[in-house]
Amino acid sequence: MEPKAGAALLNGLRGRCPACGKGRLFRSFVKVADACGSCGEAFHHHRADDFPAYLVIVVVGHLIVPLTLYVELAWAPSYLLHAAIWLPLILILSIGLLQPIKGAVVALQWHTGMHGFAAARRARRSAPGVEQVGDGRARQAGPEAGLEQHACLQGM
Ligand SMILES: [Zn+2]
Repeated sequence: MEPKAGAALLNGLRGRCPACGKGRLFRSFVKVADACGSCGEAFHHHRADDFPAYLVIVVVGHLIVPLTLYVELAWAPSYLLHAAIWLPLILILSIGLLQPIKGAVVALQWHTGMHGFAAARRARRSAPGVEQVGDGRARQAGPEAGLEQHACLQGM
């Protein structure tokens, strides 16, 4: 059974597979793995692009700007102190939020079936072991797929 939107988003925020919540969603800091190592769910359909970075800017901006204004109005510290406080905080928050937010974006795309996630899900339900490729054709999953094609070519 597939998780609901909230559970899938939470799995994405934790950097886990939105489908099973066990496998890793990322193969490096912000590089999404091709598939889940636990359940085999394909992730290569995602098209997060720059959206996670925009969301990080929105979130960090809405946290930092009111804080800087409050500190300036309340204590009016020197600009050097402002820089010493806010620049590291912006850096830490931006780097810290990038992977969770990207995970949530990929989980949202997975849950809503965007960019080939829905086609792959339909193909998996109708024929387990067969994955839908981007142009709508079905392709046999697993190492035997290449052998089968090779055998067909030999028969020609
Ligand atoms: Zn999984």
